[in-house]
Amino acid sequence: MEIFKLVFSPIDVNTYVLADSSGNCAIIDCGSYDRDEFIRLTDLIKEKNLKPVLLLNTHCHLDHIFGNNFILEEYKLGAFCHKEDEQNRENAVQHAVFFGLSMEAPPVPSGFLIDGQKVSFGETELKVLHVPGHSRGSLAFYSAADSVVFTGDALFAGSIGRTDLPGGNYETLLNSIRTKLFTLPPQTVVYPGHGNPTTIGTELKTNPYFFPA
Ligand SMILES: [Zn+2]
Ligand SMILES: [Zn+2]
Repeated sequence: MEIFKLVFSPIDVNTYVLADSSGNCAIIDCGSYDRDEFIRLTDLIKEKNLKPVLLLNTHCHLDHIFGNNFILEEYKLGAFCHKEDEQNRENAVQHAVFFGLSMEAPPVPSGFLIDGQKVSFGETELKVLHVPGHSRGSLAFYSAADSVVFTGDALFAGSIGRTDLPGGNYETLLNSIRTKLFTLPPQTVVYPGHGNPTTIGTELKTNPYFFPA
C-alpha cells in the first residue's frame, strides 16, 4: 500500500490517501477546508492516476470532516464512520463558529462502522477498531498486511487525544489505547490525525501517558 499525507485547514489535520496496485484508493479524514485545499487533494489523485472508492472518518470532529462535502460532490462518495460520533457531525457547524471558522453542514454518512468490521478498497482490507475516549465514536483503521494503523485523534506520536470535549473520557481513552492499539505488533506504523507518524513499539516505550506504566 502507498500512503500519501496532506495537511489541511487552520487546525493542521492529516488527510491520508491510501492506494494499492489496483489503482483504487481510500481517503481517511478529508480535512480540506476550502476549494483551494481540495484541489491539492484532487491534483494528487489525478497525478497518481487513482480512483477514490472509499471515504473513512476516524471521528466526526470538524477538522476531520471539513472536506466531506467536496468528496461527495467530486467523487459521489459518502463517509463511513461510527454512529456514536453523529452528535459531533451534527454540531460541527456550531463548533466551527466557536473556533472562528465556518463550514457548510456536513453530509449524512453513507454508513456506520462497528468494532471488528472489515472495510476494503482495491485489494486492501482494513480492520475497524473502536477506540473511544477522545470522542465516543473514535475509530482506528488497521491493515495487518501492511503493518499500519490510522489512529485519528486517539494516539499521536508522544501524546494522546484531548478528552475535555463532549463524549471524551480520559480513562476510556487510555483503556482503548492499551487494549486495541498497544496489542498490535510493535513494528506497526502509526499514522495519527495530527503530526508525524510513529510506531506502536515506540509509543509503548516512550509515550508519557503510559511510561512508566
Ligand atoms: Zn478530534
Ligand atoms: Zn483532530
